[in-house]
Amino acid sequence: MSNPTSIPVALSLGSNLGDREANIEKAVDLLAGTLANICCSSFFCSAPVDCPPDAYDFLNIVVTGETGVGPKELLRECQRIEVEMGRPADHGYHEDRIVDIDILLYGDEVIEESGLTIPHAEMTKREFVLQPLAEIAGDWAIPPEGSTVGDCCHILARTTGT
Ligand code: ADP
Ligand code: MG
Repeated sequence: MSNPTSIPVALSLGSNLGDREANIEKAVDLLAGTLANICCSSFFCSAPVDCPPDAYDFLNIVVTGETGVGPKELLRECQRIEVEMGRPADHGYHEDRIVDIDILLYGDEVIEESGLTIPHAEMTKREFVLQPLAEIAGDWAIPPEGSTVGDCCHILARTTGT
């Protein structure tokens, strides 16, 4: 029986250091402590954006799942896993990373707090987020407007010409 208090969430995972695929798979394993019914997109490879010119290419995936913890606790858990896997807690902005875990969506909630913005502020501008998310959750309505992930993905593809 599913937990009645569980909230559907979507997370973005990225890595551009070391064995990127293994790093992402390990992070997904660790997230299983907090997320039930995890569903993973396929891998999406992309050139770094807004990063130093010598940054390595990124591998990204999106995972969906259900959680019984609140959004702040979920963020803390994502950051704890990043640190456990070796990402320095005091990393620089857009520095190369073993793993980066961002919360994209937390149910249909809109959250604007210090250190936590949901839906993720950049999610509708990022192909490496929308494409994998559309693959596993294309019908999810992004609050507050309610456009679906699939629609946003099409709009972004038209804008970027991909
Ligand atoms: P980036 O994800 O852009 O590579 P960081 O992982 O260093 O950068 O995150 C920068 C800050 O973004 C974190 O300190 C975190 O508090 C904040 N943040 C705000 N909203 C979110 C979110 N939805 N998911 C993850 N981090 C978030
Ligand atoms: Mg992050």
